Amino acid sequence: MEKTFAIIKPDAVERNLIGKILERIEGNGFRIVAMKRVLLTLPVAQGFYHVHKERPFFKDLTEYMCTGPVVLLVFEKEGAIKAWRELMGATNPADADAGTIRKDFAIDLEKNSVHGSDARDTAAFEISYFFSQTEILS
Ligand code: ATP
Ligand code: MG
Repeated sequence: MEKTFAIIKPDAVERNLIGKILERIEGNGFRIVAMKRVLLTLPVAQGFYHVHKERPFFKDLTEYMCTGPVVLLVFEKEGAIKAWRELMGATNPADADAGTIRKDFAIDLEKNSVHGSDARDTAAFEISYFFSQTEILS
């Protein structure tokens, strides 16, 4: 079964949207296999988003990710990586399709409520960045 990694970002946690987002995840047939609520430190956020370190938005993005608690998740389903990207919607909520999480909950391009791995290799890196094998219970 394919696993993907997700974050419920600070803007969504702050607005009490954890339950509504988990409901979308479980309601769309994903099984949650690991979950924790944490406050990221700047070095941890920078390491997580290292692929974006040359981008102009890197500093703002990593600082924003440390502004409040986030929920880290691993969940699985057939084709989970692509299916979760579809359920999240486009990066900019203004471009996101109706019925997607970002369309319904995101504030703007940066405060876009959720993260999702974009490929097999990034999913493997992101899962192992935050979870040990004993914390993932299928
Ligand atoms: P994520 O990786 O969080 O799932 P994504 O894959 O849709 O989002 P990326 O291009 O990987 O988008 O960008 C990572 C995050 O950086 C975005 O989710 C958003 O929070 C922020 N971001 C992306 N582009 C911009 C931008 N032009 N200005 C400000 N923030 C941005
Ligand atoms: Mg991305």
